[in-house]
Amino acid sequence: MRMWGVNPALLCDKHLLGEHVEMHMFVGALKKGISTRGYEETGLVVLSKIRARHDALAAEMQRRGMNHRSPLPRIAMRRGGWIDEAANLRELKRRCPDCRKRIRRHDRRRS
Ligand SMILES: [Zn+2]
Ligand SMILES: [Zn+2]
Repeated sequence: MRMWGVNPALLCDKHLLGEHVEMHMFVGALKKGISTRGYEETGLVVLSKIRARHDALAAEMQRRGMNHRSPLPRIAMRRGGWIDEAANLRELKRRCPDCRKRIRRHDRRRS
């Protein structure tokens, strides 16, 4: 499970859907009292940003014509975790050709 935290428009469909599901999984784990400490300590999630991140990903899914019918359960969120968005962007570019294409296209548009 991982919160990439980058602009949702830059994610390929697979990573967009994947991160969205993982925001549900984080909430599911927290709701059941399953520890997310390992993710918090290794830069994979910021707990306080899960809801906003989920909503941003769901909005991007809808922009792409995908269905979103899964409201995120309401839970009390404690503090914890960190992510490095710039490093995550580099990681996506490195490991995913489809994300790389989207990121390049986006960089070209801005320059
Ligand atoms: Zn959802
Ligand atoms: Zn990707």
